[in-house]
Amino acid sequence: MIRLEHVTKVYKTSPRPALEDVSVSVDKGEFVFLIGPSGSGKSTFLRLLLREDVPTKGEIHVADWDLTKLPRRRVPRLRQRIGCVFQDFRLLVNKTVAENVAFALEVIGKPRHTIRKVVPEVLQLVGLDGKAERMPNELSGGEQQRVAIARAFVNRPLLLLADEPTGNLDPDTSQDIMLLLERINRTGTTVLMATHDHSIVDSMRRRVVELQFGKVTRDDSRGVYGVGR
Ligand code: ADP
Ligand code: ADP
Repeated sequence: MIRLEHVTKVYKTSPRPALEDVSVSVDKGEFVFLIGPSGSGKSTFLRLLLREDVPTKGEIHVADWDLTKLPRRRVPRLRQRIGCVFQDFRLLVNKTVAENVAFALEVIGKPRHTIRKVVPEVLQLVGLDGKAERMPNELSGGEQQRVAIARAFVNRPLLLLADEPTGNLDPDTSQDIMLLLERINRTGTTVLMATHDHSIVDSMRRRVVELQFGKVTRDDSRGVYGVGR
């Protein structure tokens, strides 16, 4: 599903590579934590997968796309197949829960009857079936993140990218969000999650790819956050 081959990314404004000779493969259906200290290259990694930027060297493949050769006009199609979830939820504040989810389908031209059918289904999947008509500011942080996950998932993406999705949530709520991401992963969606959250990584025992100064320093199939602790 994801293949980086000897990927190096050097930003013009900074001499040190943000990523250096990174090679990582992720199979369809895997759940992978991307960890590492601030500045280690996690966001750059995610941005390259979305073709928000191109590598300085190396190749990146996502599903059947070769991102280094993908023409600009085909980038929207790639992004349609990748769901994204962020630390700060990024909901549309003047739309209801259902409208936030529906909007993700409207912008890609799904017919209204499809939207009517699938929005309630996905809200049920994330445990928000009673809250369809609420506004985001009437919801708890955990509920807002569920809306964001519903919106990211409603189009059945091949890949779900989550950038610190539990960063603004308390530990119990974070665990609930992880159960939801696991459930989405079990539907066959590949999940890649960048995180600093030690307890979540340690409790899930999934694959851990660690970056330090832009290099992969560890790739464990059933990893924990810190080694030797
Ligand atoms: P992380 O997400 O792990 O905090 P980043 O990918 O944001 O790491 O950053 C990796 C390195 O690249 C850092 O040294 C950061 O300062 C640098 N960097 C990130 N984005 C840019 C940019 N747009 N321009 C210049 N340097 C950047
Ligand atoms: P419209 O009148 O054009 O349907 P709305 O503002 O009522 O506009 O809704 C915008 C979108 O959100 C529509 O596609 C609608 O199907 C969807 N939507 C609104 N409320 C719900 C709901 N409770 N359940 C499912 N979809 C909803």
